[in-house]
Amino acid sequence: MATNAIRNTWSRYRSIPIVYRIGAAFALGSGVGLIVGEPATVLQPLGDLFVRLLSMIVVPIIVLTLLMGVRQLSPATLGKIGGEVVALYAISSAIAVGIGLAIANLINPGSGLTLTDTEFETQEAPNAVDVFLGIVPENPVTAMAEGDILPIIFFVLVTGIALVLIRDTTEDESLRRGAEGIFRAAETGAEAMFKVVWGVMEYGVIGVFALMAATLAQTGAETLVSFAVLVVALAIAVVIHIGVVYLGGMIGLLARQSPIAFLVGSRNAMVTALSIRSSSGTLPVTMTDAEENLRIEEGVYSFSLPLGATINMDGTAMYQGVAAIFAVNLVGGTLTIAEQLTVVAIAVLASIGAAGVPGTGLIMLTLVLTQLGLPLEVVGFVAGIDPILDRLRTMTNITGDLAVATVVGKWNGAIDFADGVWTGDVAGTPTAADD
Ligand code: ASP
Repeated sequence: MATNAIRNTWSRYRSIPIVYRIGAAFALGSGVGLIVGEPATVLQPLGDLFVRLLSMIVVPIIVLTLLMGVRQLSPATLGKIGGEVVALYAISSAIAVGIGLAIANLINPGSGLTLTDTEFETQEAPNAVDVFLGIVPENPVTAMAEGDILPIIFFVLVTGIALVLIRDTTEDESLRRGAEGIFRAAETGAEAMFKVVWGVMEYGVIGVFALMAATLAQTGAETLVSFAVLVVALAIAVVIHIGVVYLGGMIGLLARQSPIAFLVGSRNAMVTALSIRSSSGTLPVTMTDAEENLRIEEGVYSFSLPLGATINMDGTAMYQGVAAIFAVNLVGGTLTIAEQLTVVAIAVLASIGAAGVPGTGLIMLTLVLTQLGLPLEVVGFVAGIDPILDRLRTMTNITGDLAVATVVGKWNGAIDFADGVWTGDVAGTPTAADD
C-alpha cells in the first residue's frame, strides 16, 4: 500500500516537465533564502554539487559531439558555417550593448545612490595576441584537463578533419573502418552524455533550490531593494533583446520559425543558466536542447555552441552598457555619445576574450570603467548584487547561442523541422516509457 502510494506520487512528480520542477525550486529557494537569511547558506554544498555534476560532462560532451559533427562537414562547409556564426555573434552583441545603453539612459539606475568605499580586485585585460595564440593548445590533454574550450575545439576539429580524410581517401580498409569506428564510438558516447544530462537535471531540482537559497541569503533583501533599479534596468534590456533580436529578428525573420517553439525548445538551458550563472557549465544542457528539442544537426551546434559559450556574450556585453550609465550616475556625470560608442566597442571585444563562468561580466566592468575614467570602486559597490545580475546575463548569453545555431542551421539545411519542438514534441517531459 505505502509503496504503491510512494510510487504513484513519484511518477506523478516525474510527469511534470523538469523545467517546471526546477522553476518551482528556483522560486522556493529564493523565498527561503530571503526569509531564513544567513543560516540558509549551509545549503550551498548541495547547489555546488549540481554545478559540479554539470561541469563534469562539459569536456566529454564537447569532444564527443564535435567528433560527431565534423564527420558530416567538409572544411569549406565548416568555414562557411563558422563565418555565419561569428558574424551573427558579433552583430547581436553590438546591438545588445546599444539596447543596454538606451534602457539605462531612460531609467537612469544609480541616480540617488552614493558610492561607498568598497574593496575590489582589479584584473588584467586579456591581451588580443594571447587570446589568439591561446586558441592553439600546447598540449590538448592540459586543455581538456583545464576545460579550456577554444583550444579543445581547435584540437578536436583538426583531428576530426584528419579522421574524415582517412575515412574518405585511404585504400587501407582496416584504417578506414577504424576511423568510422571512432566516429561511431563518439556517437554512442554523446548519446550517453545526453542521458547523463537528464539524470543531472533530476538532481537539479534540489541543486537549484539550494543555490538560490544560499545566494539570496547572502545578498539579502536590503541589497536587493537598494539596487532594484539596476536589476530592473538590466531585466528590461534582457527582455527586449531576447524578444526583439532573438525571437523576432533571428527566429521570426531570419529563420522564419515560431518563436514560441524556439523558447520551449531552449527552456531547459535557459533555466539552468539562470540557476548556475555559467555559460560553460550550462553547455551540456544547451547541447541537449539543441539536439533533442531544436533538432539542429551536430555539424552546426557541436561547434557553434561551445564557441558561443566563450565568445558570444550578449547579456554580459549589454550589462557593460547598463553598468557604465549606472557608474556615471553614481558620480553625477554624463557620458557623451562618443564615450557610449567606446563602451560598445570595449564590451563587444572584451566579451570575446572572456570565459563563460560566474562573475566574468563584473571583471569586464573594470576595463570599461578604466577606459571611461570612472571610479573602479563601482565594481566593488555592485559586487554584492552581481550574483543576481549574472543570472540574467548568463541566460541571455546562452539563448543567443541557441538562436544563432537555429538561424545558421536553417540557412544550411541542418535542422529537422519535421521533428522535436517544431512539431510540439519536447524532451524533458518524462513519459511513463522513460521509467
Ligand atoms: N556568467 C556569465 C556567463 O557564464 C558571464 C558574465 O559574468 O556575464 O556567461
